Amino acid sequence: MPLTSERYLTVVDAIDVANAQDPNRVTVGGAEEPLAFAQGRAATRWVRRLAIHPSEPLLLAARAHHLRRWEVPRSTYPNGRAGYLLWRNERMQDHARDASEILTRAGYDDRVIDRVQSIIRKQQLRSDHEVQTYEDAVALVFLETQLNETAERLGNKAVDVLAKTLHKMTPIGISAIPELPAVPAGLIDEALHASGRTDLDRVLPLSWSDPVAQARNLIRRALVMSKDPVITMSGQLGGVVLLHLVRETAPTIPVVFADTGYHFPETLKFIDELRQAWDLNLRVVSPRESVAQHEAVRGKLYDTDPDACCGLRKVAPVERALIGHDTWFAAVRADQSAYRSTLQPVTGAVLEGAHAIVKVSPILGWSWDAVERYADHHRLPRHPLYSKGYTSIGCAPCTIPTFAAGDDRGGRWNGAKVECGLHIQSPEPR
Ligand code: SF4
Repeated sequence: MPLTSERYLTVVDAIDVANAQDPNRVTVGGAEEPLAFAQGRAATRWVRRLAIHPSEPLLLAARAHHLRRWEVPRSTYPNGRAGYLLWRNERMQDHARDASEILTRAGYDDRVIDRVQSIIRKQQLRSDHEVQTYEDAVALVFLETQLNETAERLGNKAVDVLAKTLHKMTPIGISAIPELPAVPAGLIDEALHASGRTDLDRVLPLSWSDPVAQARNLIRRALVMSKDPVITMSGQLGGVVLLHLVRETAPTIPVVFADTGYHFPETLKFIDELRQAWDLNLRVVSPRESVAQHEAVRGKLYDTDPDACCGLRKVAPVERALIGHDTWFAAVRADQSAYRSTLQPVTGAVLEGAHAIVKVSPILGWSWDAVERYADHHRLPRHPLYSKGYTSIGCAPCTIPTFAAGDDRGGRWNGAKVECGLHIQSPEPR
């Protein structure tokens, strides 16, 4: 569940206000921000991605991991590795102390304060799962906010620095690297080689630039972290591809399909054939009202208010089916629409009834061509309407053929909208 208690938000605000004074700047998502401020927020985000249910002390420690770090610059310590380690360790003690003062003012008890301090100090790093998650998260923050600058400053020596960072991370943490927006893949490959890690085969892709390997990597990582995963599908080719990939590791994963009552008969037949051919653990979910009941009260809502129609007949039934699961695989792709191009491959989502779930989109970065190539290579079944000029297949009253291959949301809702609402992302929890 997202943490929203007053004292949690008070501490988060106090840390952000302090870190907003950092005169050093970094560009995040196209906007320039104070470095420590951006790093605290990024660390919270990474903890939420790496831990399905992060504890409150872990989230607080992540937010405070570089609290007021700029106040004692690296340049005030001797050059060289010994000087760096001394500076880093003393700053770590300062971060723990400063965080403790803020937590005390907000009313946290000694138990929580001690725990936050021990995480920031990385005590029991190899045996404490939360401390290791923290280490992974702050390493990813370094890669996200300082790797490019480090590579420019150090040239060839950046490989050694990066190898040392990778050496401290778990396979799970390393496997999250492809989610970083502008990571230099060649440098990562070189550093991985230099780090001498031999424990990465289970979750790492063969190549950082191979979208299939990256998707597999993300799927395996999510499944390792998940207790109760689920996948949604509507019968479109991207969904079939994702289902094929996920079932390599989780063949019995529950598959949720929303029968809105308005589907093409071809869609229902296709889903049923797929269920039989792949022995799917299929869960067909329906709206609370039959089409007859719905139309008797509301008329043809798909004509008069398609958002409300999708909300009642697709989004709500799917969200009800997701409740109780902790990880949701979805086949959205960034090239499907301007909105989808803003999505992230792993996010927290909040469903009906404030139920929180981790949403994972392993083929987010794939093109339509990549989807087709994968489907052809593996001889995956295709919805029959693709061969009749449909390029995106939803409910019959809201979908027309466009004959424009690759126009993946074209022909839907007569151009009035491109989203049913299921993938509209709630803001990332703080
Ligand atoms: S796609 Fe059309 S018919 Fe289907 S739920 Fe949405 S508005 Fe209703």
